[in-house]
Amino acid sequence: MNLKNIKQPFIENFPGDFSKNPIQRNTPKVLFSTIDPVGFDDPKLIVFNEKLSEEIGLGKFDNSDLDFLVGNNLPENIKTYATAYAGHQFGNWAGQLGDGRAIIAGEIKNSEGQKTEIQWKGAGATPYSRHADGRAVLRSSVREYLMSEAMHHLGIPTTRGLSLCLTGEDVVRDIMYSGNPQEEKGAVVVRTAESFLRFGHFELMSAQKEIDTLQKLTDFTIKNYFPEIISEGEQKYKDFFQSVCTKTADLMVEWFRVGFVHGVMNTDNMSILGLTIDYGPFSMMDEYDLNFTPNTTDLPGRRYAFGKQGQISQWNLWQLANALFALIKDENFLEQTLNSYGTYFWEAHDKMLCKKFGFDQLLESDKEFFTNWQGLMQELQLDYTLFFNVLEKLDAISDLKTEFQNVSYTFLDEVKVKKLENFIQLYSSRLQHNTISREDSLHMMKKTNPKFLLRNYLLFECIEEINQGKTQMLEKLTSALENPYEEIFPELSVKRPSGYDDISGCSMLSCSS
Ligand code: AMP
Ligand code: MG
Repeated sequence: MNLKNIKQPFIENFPGDFSKNPIQRNTPKVLFSTIDPVGFDDPKLIVFNEKLSEEIGLGKFDNSDLDFLVGNNLPENIKTYATAYAGHQFGNWAGQLGDGRAIIAGEIKNSEGQKTEIQWKGAGATPYSRHADGRAVLRSSVREYLMSEAMHHLGIPTTRGLSLCLTGEDVVRDIMYSGNPQEEKGAVVVRTAESFLRFGHFELMSAQKEIDTLQKLTDFTIKNYFPEIISEGEQKYKDFFQSVCTKTADLMVEWFRVGFVHGVMNTDNMSILGLTIDYGPFSMMDEYDLNFTPNTTDLPGRRYAFGKQGQISQWNLWQLANALFALIKDENFLEQTLNSYGTYFWEAHDKMLCKKFGFDQLLESDKEFFTNWQGLMQELQLDYTLFFNVLEKLDAISDLKTEFQNVSYTFLDEVKVKKLENFIQLYSSRLQHNTISREDSLHMMKKTNPKFLLRNYLLFECIEEINQGKTQMLEKLTSALENPYEEIFPELSVKRPSGYDDISGCSMLSCSS
């Protein structure tokens, strides 16, 4: 791999703590601390993403690169650091957080001048590890690597996975926080993104009243990642905030399109570029349920439930607005922008639903149609994705009951079947309002509704296998997730088998990672 072109513009531009001191502490007034990865004696490569490596300008992998993938024996030009950020967690101000187990190697440019940041997740403690070990377990690393790639191939903005390695070390975790700690295999994921900056970086500088640094950080972000913003002065920061709002809303709509539930939408897990970031107790939704949260810690309030993600992203943007207030001293503007966020989000959301159903335009009457549909989905416990796959072949279905029973998690008795038939009738008459052909409508549905979803039970099985030293499932899932709008493996495009309903790691997950 071409490691010599990795540079660290971030640490050249901002105040930092250059002590390399790993002791966990507050580091006021700085945006990063330099820190070395801890190093691992016996690493083992599980998977390397060759296509991504070529795309971002790192080139081909050879065996000597294994060291880099876990942070061992780094070349001189790589000056590693962890960034400081803050955040609101579960609605409360949490103060300084920061990269607790992410260490940044720097940035690489490809031949087209596109910049990509590279970081290790799980390569050791940093000043921001908050009494934790800075390590990651295989389980959570497989989930992050595969899911971020799955999201990318679904066409959704996300951080990406470059590699997954075992560290050769064991890590102790109490998965269900039940006083039952166990040893698990440790792993490191190298992940990439245009930038890993989060809302929390801006919140930290604002909370510390480091307004100069806040302004420098915002200028840096705009210059590097929002080149379309050409205004100056306060207007520049207004345009920036507006753009972050739009990108965030668009991302939320995309999550709704495929049924992705993030699970921990704290402001420190919100990318300033509108990327999906920090894959923890996430889940693809199986049975449609607006109240579904995969995160056991989130159960009491269901703050981060599937159906709340639009609203919560808006709440998070309020926190960003507060942080940017020192640069945009215009309350009316901020309030108006945040209020129109709701309108923009719902319109984009409803237009997205239209595409899922194959409608070429959003009609006034669709609100009622969607509400009916949501009721039906919840009551009949229908699988979100498979439901639309059935709609796509409606014209050829002779036995409605059997088709829908295959994609439902409950028994469809006569009353339920009747409701389903009524809905299908409603749907068929709604299709009559299309101004495009049935063929074009189906084409739109097939581009919008995935055939393959990386469901939690599949990840669970894959992790079990890798733990036993086998990678067949990993390879199969990789081919499937690279082609999510095709049905390459019909056996993977089915509802969650019932045996997995109550297994931890299949529907519910803790934050333990
Ligand atoms: P999360 O909610 O997973 O995004 O994590 C919240 C904070 O805890 C972040 O600052 C993480 O970097 C940190 N963190 C989570 N797990 C660990 C760990 N094993 N070691 C160090 N820091 C961690
Ligand atoms: Mg996080």
